[in-house]
Amino acid sequence: MRPFAYTRAHSVAMAVETVAADPAARFLAGGTELLNLVREGQEAPNRLVDIGALPLTEVRADARRVRIGALAPLVHEHPEIRRRFPVLAEAGGSAASPQVRNMATPGGNLLQRTRCAYYREVRFPCNRRVPGSGCAALSGVHRNNAILGGSEHCIAVHPSDLAVALTALDAVVRTRGPAGERAIPIEELYLLPGDQPHRETALAHGELITAIDVPATAFAARSHYLKVRDRASFAFALVSVAVALELRDGVVHDVRIALGGVAPRPWRARAAEHALRGRRFDDTARAAAGRAATEGATPREHNGFKVPLTERAVLRALSEVDGGR
Ligand SMILES: Cc1cc2nc3c(=O)[nH]c(=O)nc-3n(C[C@H](O)[C@H](O)[C@H](O)COP(=O)(O)OP(=O)(O)OC[C@H]3O[C@@H](n4cnc5c(N)ncnc54)[C@H](O)[C@@H]3O)c2cc1C
Repeated sequence: MRPFAYTRAHSVAMAVETVAADPAARFLAGGTELLNLVREGQEAPNRLVDIGALPLTEVRADARRVRIGALAPLVHEHPEIRRRFPVLAEAGGSAASPQVRNMATPGGNLLQRTRCAYYREVRFPCNRRVPGSGCAALSGVHRNNAILGGSEHCIAVHPSDLAVALTALDAVVRTRGPAGERAIPIEELYLLPGDQPHRETALAHGELITAIDVPATAFAARSHYLKVRDRASFAFALVSVAVALELRDGVVHDVRIALGGVAPRPWRARAAEHALRGRRFDDTARAAAGRAATEGATPREHNGFKVPLTERAVLRALSEVDGGR
C-alpha cells in the first residue's frame, strides 16, 4: 500500500479546498469502501481528507421533503423515513451488514465503486480502473454484469441500494465544490460508461456531497424495495427493484420504477412505468410492466438469466407494494 497523508477537515470549505488542490486526494467518510480500495490497490491517494467531523449528520424533515445529511447515520432506521419513504428504509436496511451500516454514510454509499470482479482484481485489465486497458469482463465470467446500459468498454453494474431507491424517489443530490453549490437530480449524477468508463459521475474533483433531498411526492409513501441476491444477507443485488406509485381510484396516476444490479447506473425502467401509467392497477397491468422492464436489454453469455429475473422481480415488487397498504 502506498503511504498517504491524513487531514481531518474542520469545515466543508476546508474539505473542498484541500481535496480540490490535489488531484490524488480523496474524501474519507466512513471508510468502509475507500480503505478497502486503498489496501487492495484500486485507489492510491496521496492524501485522505477525513470529513467525519463535519456537521452533515442531520436528517431534517418538513412537509415538502426530507433532507438527509451526507454523513447521517443509519438513515434506514429513521422514523420519518420509514413512515414516509418505505422504499428508502428498505433499501438502506438491505445494504451490507449491520457492522458496515453502522460505519457507512449516505454520501459514501452513493459513491462506492463497482463490485465487478475485474475492477476489484487489479491483475485484470479494466477501463474503469486504468483507462484504455480493456475490459476483462466482456470475455470473462460476466454473470453479475450489466444487461442494460453497458458498452463495448464496460459492463460493470452500479452497486448502491440507496441510489436505486433514491432514483425512484426523484431525489436531488446537493453538493459544494470548487465552483460553488449545486443541486443535481440523482439521474444526472451517474454517467453511462460509453467509451469513458472511468468517468462515473458528474461530480468535479473536490466536489463534496453535503446532503440528499427527497421530495415528499404523492408516490413516495406507497413504495417498496425488492432485492434479489445469491444469499439472504451481506450480498449485493443480482437484481433489485424500487417501485413507488400513486393510485387514484385504483388507477395508476404516477409511478417510478428503478432497477439495480442490471446496469452501470441505477436504471429507470421507463417502458415499465409507461405500461402502468393511466391503467387500472391489476394483474394484467403489473405483468405488462414486468415484461416491459427489460426493454433494450442486451444480455451476454452468462447473464441472460437476469432478463426473466428482472421481469419477475418487477412483477413481484408491484404485487407486494399493492398488498402492503
Ligand atoms: C462487505 C461489504 C458489503 C457491502 N454490501 C453492500 C450492499 O449490499 N449494498 C450497498 O448499497 N452497499 C454495500 N456495501 C457498500 C457500503 O454501503 C459502502 O462501503 C458504504 O456505503 C460507503 O460509505 P462510507 O461512508 O464508508 O464511504 P467511504 O469508504 O468513506 O467513501 C467511499 C467513496 O465515496 C467518497 N465519498 C464519501 N463521502 C463523500 C461525500 N460526502 N462527498 C463526496 N465524496 C464522498 C470517498 O472519497 C470514496 O471515494 C458493502 C460494503 C462492504 C464492505
